Amino acid sequence: MTTDRKVRVRFAPSPTGPLHIGGVRTALYNYLFARQHGGDLIFRIEDTDSSRFVPGAEAYILESFRWLGIEFDEGVGFGGSYGPYRQSERRDIYRQYVQQLLDAGRAYIAFDTAEELAAKREQVANFQYDAGTRMAMRNSLTLGEAETQRLVAEGVPYVVRFLIEPGEDIHVDDIIRGDVCINSTILDDKVLWKSSDQLPTYHLANIVDDRLMEVTHVIRGEEWLPSAPLHVLLYRAFGWTATMPRFAHLPLLLKPDGKGKLSKRDGDRLGFPVFPLEWHDPKTGERSSGYRESGYLPEAVVNFLALLGWNPGDDQELLSMDELIQKFRLEKCSKNGARFDYVKGQWFNREYLMRLSDDEWAPAFTDILHANGIDTTTERAAQVVGMMKSKVIDYATRDGVKRRNVSFVSDLWPLCRFFFVAPTEFNMDDKFVRKAWGTGTAEQMQQLRDVLAGIGDFSVEGQRAVVDPWVEASGIKPWNAWRVCLVGEGQGPDMYALSAFLGRDEVLRRMDYAIATLPH
Ligand code: GLU
Repeated sequence: MTTDRKVRVRFAPSPTGPLHIGGVRTALYNYLFARQHGGDLIFRIEDTDSSRFVPGAEAYILESFRWLGIEFDEGVGFGGSYGPYRQSERRDIYRQYVQQLLDAGRAYIAFDTAEELAAKREQVANFQYDAGTRMAMRNSLTLGEAETQRLVAEGVPYVVRFLIEPGEDIHVDDIIRGDVCINSTILDDKVLWKSSDQLPTYHLANIVDDRLMEVTHVIRGEEWLPSAPLHVLLYRAFGWTATMPRFAHLPLLLKPDGKGKLSKRDGDRLGFPVFPLEWHDPKTGERSSGYRESGYLPEAVVNFLALLGWNPGDDQELLSMDELIQKFRLEKCSKNGARFDYVKGQWFNREYLMRLSDDEWAPAFTDILHANGIDTTTERAAQVVGMMKSKVIDYATRDGVKRRNVSFVSDLWPLCRFFFVAPTEFNMDDKFVRKAWGTGTAEQMQQLRDVLAGIGDFSVEGQRAVVDPWVEASGIKPWNAWRVCLVGEGQGPDMYALSAFLGRDEVLRRMDYAIATLPH
């Protein structure tokens, strides 16, 4: 039975484009399940539909998992003793199993052309190739053995169809959904193999490979649930039910408002990525944003995705990969769709960013500064991070401007420009500037400027030791006006910290400019 076998699971994408975030979650759950059972995770490429093949997709998928820290034990790019792991390289294997079904009378050869099938669909409402119609079609059941062999030998194109007996209840034992039962009457005689490209369809290849690769659990998205009864029948037809994998169909990812399936359009509309990495479509040239390039940390993405469809049953939300491996329970996954709360994703990113030291933020921030034409060092960038990472930012959404804590390294740039670029204009319509700067303020700033000019040690402490007593003695409250001089508006860090960062020369330069420019 399956239970005493070593756990072996697989992630089996079709390389038809970039990996959708739902696929990433499927792979993650397979990974967690494999690790917690000391099992193997296989990476299989299901590329039997050559018309949908997209160059670069396979490499993209591998790179996504490398970035996320989801590790495979065997498969395409990893080696292993059950290969080849790319289905297009397994033609001969599938041929053999198709023949086995034909020999056993569980499948048959059909010659109906695309035009003939289209004509039938025109003629008969809800036409389905099944027990009710197959005897009126051009196949080995109606033509007989000799004629079939003759047509095959002549090279007439054909497909192999699975012969499904009607009227039988088929039970899928799903770890998440329990017993899922459908009647075989609603199934059609699925195409298993095509002579045109000598390749199997998804269903046959998938079942044969799961068997040969000794897969014990099939953990995949809900969209595959309708295929599961057919897969059960295929296992039975092959006589493989004793080693049939156990199924677990994961809940759908829903739109942020919970209404319907998450799509790329939702991401475009609301401004969040639905792909792990940026993707450039080789055909259309279209660029789609990715979590990596949008400034997410891989740990945050993993944690966020892990909780879409499962939770540890307590209030714990921040879980490392090791904790996830320990606590994840496949049978505790939800049957209901999981709402894709991308704002929560931003929250996760902030939580993980705040665990990093300023020095760890600095390289990414330095890159952003350089991209904005700022010439500075990572040491200076780290100092700015330390002063500003706890701030709040305004950001534009469809529903107007919203506020959030700094959640991405890139959030810092609009907040931090003034550290590197001196203000050149002062907006007297700005409430803060208007209140801070009145008649006589320029004179006060001139006094402060002269005090600062005389300070030898321009560190925070060095300035404080001189300026605090001056404030005390003069009765001048310089803080807001000083901020206008150095920042140009009412934001930024502690004034001594900013002033120490800028250094005396720059501080004096900015003050001189403000004193000369603003009203006296
Ligand atoms: N090739 C299928 C996919 O693209 C695999 C489905 C399965 O896991 O059985 O997701």
